[in-house]
This record gives sequence, C-alpha cells and structure tokens, in this order.
Amino acid sequence: MTPTTAAPLQQREPLHQREPLRVAIIGAGPAGIYAGNILSKAVRDAGDEVSIDLFDSLPAPYGLIRYGVAPDHPRIKGIVNSLHEMLDTGNIRFIGNVAYGADLGLADLRAHYHAVVFATGAIRDADLDIPGIDLPGSFGAADFVSWFDGHPDAPRDWPLDATDIAVIGNGNVALDVARMLAKHPDDLLPTDIPATVYDGLAGSPVTDVHVFGRRGPAQVKFTPIELRELADVPGVDVIVYPEDFDDDELARRLLGANNQVKVMTRTLTGWLAKEPTGASRRLHLHFHHSPVEVYGDGRVEGMRFERTEATGAAAAGGASGVRGTGEIRDYPLQAVYRAVGYRGSALPEVPFDEARGVIPNDGGRVLDAAGEPIPGLYATGWIKRGPVGLIGHTKGDALETITRLVDDAALLPDPSVADPDAVLALLAERGVRFTTWPGWLALDAHERALGDADGSRVARERVKVVARGEQVDIARAGALVAS
Ligand SMILES: Cc1cc2nc3c(=O)[nH]c(=O)nc-3n(C[C@H](O)[C@H](O)[C@H](O)COP(=O)(O)OP(=O)(O)OC[C@H]3O[C@@H](n4cnc5c(N)ncnc54)[C@H](O)[C@@H]3O)c2cc1C
Repeated sequence: MTPTTAAPLQQREPLHQREPLRVAIIGAGPAGIYAGNILSKAVRDAGDEVSIDLFDSLPAPYGLIRYGVAPDHPRIKGIVNSLHEMLDTGNIRFIGNVAYGADLGLADLRAHYHAVVFATGAIRDADLDIPGIDLPGSFGAADFVSWFDGHPDAPRDWPLDATDIAVIGNGNVALDVARMLAKHPDDLLPTDIPATVYDGLAGSPVTDVHVFGRRGPAQVKFTPIELRELADVPGVDVIVYPEDFDDDELARRLLGANNQVKVMTRTLTGWLAKEPTGASRRLHLHFHHSPVEVYGDGRVEGMRFERTEATGAAAAGGASGVRGTGEIRDYPLQAVYRAVGYRGSALPEVPFDEARGVIPNDGGRVLDAAGEPIPGLYATGWIKRGPVGLIGHTKGDALETITRLVDDAALLPDPSVADPDAVLALLAERGVRFTTWPGWLALDAHERALGDADGSRVARERVKVVARGEQVDIARAGALVAS
C-alpha cells in the first residue's frame, strides 16, 4: 500500500527556526492538492507551522478531474469529494485564475515563499508525425476532451459532421474519446456536460467510430474497467475482427502476463463471438494497424495504415513487439482524433526536459542544467514524471516530493516579504481577478443549482459553467457575500 503521510518529523530539528514555512504550489490538480495536504499534515504533526498557497490558472480547482476525466465517469469525478475535504480544512489557501508565468513570475514567488512546488500537469496532445495529420478534420484528443468537459479556454463549437471517425491510440483516453463520440447524447444527460456540448453531440451524424492500435490485442494500454464498459454503452455495438487475433501470439503473450492483461484479452476474445445487435452506432476496435498517413483533398477523406505483426522478440517480451508487414489498408473517414498521449509544457524560468516533456528532477527536487538541485524548487504529478498513471498515483508522487521539501526546509532562505497576504495585494495591484476557496464554494453551489433547475428528463447533479469570466464573476461575488 502507498503510504500517504511524510516520514515523521518529530525526531528532526524544528522545521523552521525563524518564521513559519511558506510554500506556493502551482497547479490545483490532484497532485498539487495531495502535496498541500501531505505537507500541511507533516508540518503540523511536528508542532511547526506552515502556510500553503495553492495557485491555479483556472478559476476552479481539481485540474484534469474537472477538465479531463470523462463526464460519464461519475465515480472517478467523485474523487473531488476527498480533495474538497482537504481544501475545506482551511490549511491550504486556494487562489485561482492566477497563471504562473503571466500573473506571477519566479522572482515574485521567491520573494513571498520559502519553496515553490510545480504541479502543472499536462494538457497538450503529444504529436503524431505522419503526413496529413494537420488536415482540417484531424483533431487532438486533448482539445476534444477540453471541449466536452467545458474547459474555459477550449473553443465552444466543435465540428461534429462526420459519419465515420478514426481514433488513433490504445490507451484509456482513446476509449474515452471513442465512447464520447459514439454514445447517444441522451445517455449523457445525467452528467455535468454543458448545454452546448449536449447540443453539439445531439447533432452528430456519426455511425462508426474506429479505434486503431499499432500493436496486438494483448498489448493494449487500456484498463479492464474502461474496456469492459464499452459493452454497456446503450445503442452501440462493439466490433472486433478475427484477423487481428493471432492465437499463437496471444497464447505466448498470456504466458507471463499479469491478471489485467488476461482479463482484457478475455474480454476482447469474448466480443469476437458476439453478433452485432444491429444498433445504429458501432465502435470498432482494430489492432495491428500502424498509422501511415491521413489523406484528403483539403480535408480528411480517409486514413492509411500498414498492418503489423508480432515479432519474435515481442513474443519473448521485447519492447515494441511489432513490425510492418507491407500490407496497406485505407479507411474512408471524415474525421481523425489522435489520442497518442499528453505532453507537459515548459514553464518560464523553470528547467524543462524537452525530450520527456517534464521538469527535470530528483525525487521532486528540480534540477538545473548541471543536474544540481535548485534550492526551494520542487515538482510533483504529471509535470514531474510524465503524463502516465491514474489520479491515485499522484498521491505517492506528492509524498516523495514533500518528503524532500521537508528534509530541505530548515536550510531554505527566508523570503524577503514577511506578510502572507502581500501576495494577494500584489495580484490585486496587477489587476488579476483571482478567485478563492469561498469563491469556489459559491461557484460549486451555483453549478449544482443549475443542475437542479435543468429541465431535462433526468436528475442532474450539476451543470458546469464554462466561460472563464462568468466563473470568475460568480466566484468573486459569492466570496464577497461569504466574507
Ligand atoms: C482525458 C483524461 C482522462 C483521464 N481519466 C482518468 C480516470 O478516469 N481515472 C484516473 O484515475 N485518472 C484519469 N486521468 C489521469 C488523471 O487526470 C491524472 O493522473 C491527474 O490529473 C494528474 O494530476 P496533476 O495534478 O499532475 O495534473 P492536472 O490534473 O493536469 O493538474 C494540473 C493543474 O495545473 C494547472 N496549471 C497548469 N499550468 C499552470 C500555470 N502556468 N499556472 C497555474 N496553474 C497551472 C492546470 O490548470 C491544472 O489545474 C485522465 C487523464 C486524462 C487526460
């Protein structure tokens, strides 16, 4: 089991001899919130004081849980309940609508805090470098996810005019995108999707969504629950193809495979035997298809793949496991979504590893170009280790980073500005309309009230407010009332 508290501090020297430790965390996704909570507990348990400011460029907290996790995954979205409790203790001060690099720079943070923890995650799509990938009708999964999850910076209109769509990738994000494209919109009514998203999906003429993976069915990166869920999508048939299942290869792969792989292979082979019900929409899973190009005259008209086969090395546990066979397949389509991974973005004045898309670090201590730790700078979450893993993994990650910070704390120089509220005055002086925890509580209550008032046929827990300005107005007005 992953421990969730930092090592006991009682045996150490008092954490900070001169004044209470002040820490800024940049990014209020799960990694930032877990880091704040672990830090707060560790320091307070040791009888010391700490003040923690949690900044986010968005007006609302929760990062990709609010703006990444699919709306029809309420159980996962429900993780915000425990994060809410952590922020509601009052031990962490949430300050939203503040972008590091635009509203506050490193010098500002150095002046106000002993330490800064970067927890800025990853929001961009990784590239897929094939001809035609930039044709109109070709999209990144991250942009589509931001649209259906109501991210304030995503375009509000999404072109859903394709009947046949390709989704490239064999991870959970590819499944989320394919499911959201294939699902009948009324089945999304109980979720928190904004009205514009419901209207957009309701106008979609889609009939066939094809998910393509380069490797074989026993090499997918899905998780069993996400895969199995496809079979339960109402009015959508899941279709798999016998040509993609090589019995010898499957048998070899399953020899040393973990339970997860065995369960998913069973699920997939079970679908081989299933007759389609004649539903109006189909979700096809294709394996051993390596993308070659997106083609079309001025916009997407289809996609070309090369069939792959397992290599001997793969069967013995090799890394990639497939090679091209030279057999080319064309699929006529009108839209392509690439879901080949997310990528972290560089932050001003903070080292960045371009190759891996992360902040270079040693267990969370940010490293300079010479590989030396930069005093007072830390990283956690997806920006620390790359965009892989579930929300739960960010907890262990935060523990590692905060343990390092606590170890270093007594040595960190005091910030030049003593007043913890001075940073708020600085933001106000710069005209930044920051939001606060009472402000989020007001916005949260407003969204829930919109859910109650919604005239849909089904009960809705919330309806998201999308526009940034509107979120900020509601949050700031609500915070004023609360104060
Ligand atoms: C489409 C999708 C679906 C997923 N579904 C699931 C799922 O079902 N179950 C599951 O367990 N995991 C899921 N995950 C993974 C999960 O979302 C991540 O593990 C987790 O969110 C990573 O946490 P994080 O805090 O590092 O990053 P994030 O959640 O991305 O949070 C980073 C925060 O930093 C803020 N930020 C960025 N730059 C700045 C800046 N310059 N200044 C201030 N703030 C900034 C962002 O606004 C954001 O709020 C999914 C991921 C994606 C992409």
